[in-house]
Amino acid sequence: MFIAFEGLDGSGSSTQSRLLAQRLEKNGKPSLLTKEPTSDSPIGKMIREILQHKWSASPEGLQLLFSADRAEHLKNEIEPALDGGQVVITDRYLYSTLAYGGMNVDMEWLKALNKSFRLPDITFLFKLSPEECIKRIAGRGSDYELFEKAEKLAKIWENYEKIAEESPDIQVIDATKSIEEIADEIWKVVLGKI
Ligand code: ADP
Ligand code: MG
Repeated sequence: MFIAFEGLDGSGSSTQSRLLAQRLEKNGKPSLLTKEPTSDSPIGKMIREILQHKWSASPEGLQLLFSADRAEHLKNEIEPALDGGQVVITDRYLYSTLAYGGMNVDMEWLKALNKSFRLPDITFLFKLSPEECIKRIAGRGSDYELFEKAEKLAKIWENYEKIAEESPDIQVIDATKSIEEIADEIWKVVLGKI
C-alpha cells in the first residue's frame, strides 16, 4: 500500500506521517517513511537550495527538478519497498507539485509531466486555514521557505481542493482536530484498506 500525506505547510502532515509509520511499526507492519523533495539525493538537495533562495531557478526548471526527483524516488525507494511488501508513506508527493507548482506554471503542462507516475492508494489531504497554518509554522521555529509566504497559501489550497474533486484516492482530513484524534482517524482508514 502506497500512502501520501498532503496539505499546506503547517497543516500537520509531517507529524501524522511520522505517527502512522510508528503505529505500523508497533503493529508489526513493515513500512517505509519517506518524503519529497527527497532528503538524500542530489536532486532533492538542489530543490531545497532553490526553496531556501541559495540559488534561483525558473519556475519550470524547479518543477522539472521535482519531477526528476520523483522519478528517482519511485525507482530507487518507493517501488522496491512496495515490491517487498512494505507500506510506503510519503510526506508530500505528486499533488504537492500540482497545488504548489500550479501557482507559477501551467497546470496542464505539470499534469502531463507527471502523468506516468503511479498514484497513491490513499492520500490524506490536511485541511486547515492559512492563518492557522502560519501560526503553527511560527511555533515550529523553522525558516520560512519560498512556498510558505502567507498570502499564497489560500490559492494553493484552492488548487488542492480542485485536485481533490478529480482524485478518488484523496481523503480530506479536518486538521483542526488534536494530533491524537487525527492519528486515530488515519489509523482506522489505513486498517480498513490494509
Ligand atoms: P506540515 O508538515 O504540514 O508543514 P507539521 O507536521 O510540521 O506540518 O506541523 C507543524 C506544527 O504544527 C508543528 O509544530 C506540529 O507539532 C504542530 N501540529 C501538528 N499537528 C497539529 C495539530 N493537530 N494540532 C496542533 N498542532 C499541530
Ligand atoms: Mg511537512
